[in-house]
Amino acid sequence: MKHTVSVYRLPGLNALLKKRQVPWRSIFFMVLAGIVTLSITLIHPAAQAYDVVIDPAAPGQGDTVSILVTGRTGASETPTVTVDGEPYPTFALGDNRYRTFVPTSPLHRSGRYVVQVTGAERQRNPAFWLDRRSFRTQRITLSSGSGDLGTDHEFDRVATFKAVLSPEKYWDGPFLRPSQGRVSSEYGVRRYYNGVFADNYYHRGIDYAAPTGSPVIAPAAGRVVLVGRVADGFELHGNTIGIDHGQGVASIFIHLNSISVQEGDIVQPGQTVGTVGSTGASTGPHLHWGLYVNGVAVDPGPWREQRMN
Ligand SMILES: [Zn+2]
Repeated sequence: MKHTVSVYRLPGLNALLKKRQVPWRSIFFMVLAGIVTLSITLIHPAAQAYDVVIDPAAPGQGDTVSILVTGRTGASETPTVTVDGEPYPTFALGDNRYRTFVPTSPLHRSGRYVVQVTGAERQRNPAFWLDRRSFRTQRITLSSGSGDLGTDHEFDRVATFKAVLSPEKYWDGPFLRPSQGRVSSEYGVRRYYNGVFADNYYHRGIDYAAPTGSPVIAPAAGRVVLVGRVADGFELHGNTIGIDHGQGVASIFIHLNSISVQEGDIVQPGQTVGTVGSTGASTGPHLHWGLYVNGVAVDPGPWREQRMN
């Protein structure tokens, strides 16, 4: 009963309204709204969102996905582009445009990938769907001990080559075919070794069968960043050339017979850089061309067919 009495003794609503109190609640909400508006204005000057174009719209495993970001406010800050949380290098193309290449391979799961573009303008989160592609398979029988080829020296140098990332863009337009030989093994072929599917193996390039001594040309302009020879320990790759095309795009040629360039040379598209051979772990004269984008061996096919600019 005591409690009921105290409730009845509380001042009524009418009494409160008559007191003409300062409207603290209204002031609080007005200040809060002001702070929120100011913050949005400071972070997003015009509250404009990036324009994002993903090409190709329906990529398949092995494709290089180009993410073209156009700013609308003229802010010069390069946006950050991540795919499923992993950041990829972004380069300015001029006119408020930025481009990111996202490499894919047979080892990338098919399915939905979320792109996140953040920077001076409002964040965008488009997505693309990576289609499953079927790749040919090969069955290889290995005798014991045949997997031991290769030296630390060549593995270190090739790993450094794959990580090359220079801001210059040397290539321009579609890539040329580096050999006139017929394609003897296409990109992406999967393997069974002694009947067991090799989860991490795929053919990381294209093989061209051509006679020993036939020319190998640079498919695009670039800077020679790797020259390795059998005599220096390239026992697995054989005589090797690595060309940096810039902005994370690089070509490797292995099993060469001869090499006619030096590290540091700038090469032009169509320039002869060496000749086809069968050095290293090779069963016959052929050129292996690997095209790496941000460290992943991608299908060179689209780079041959279209302008990847
Ligand atoms: Zn090959």
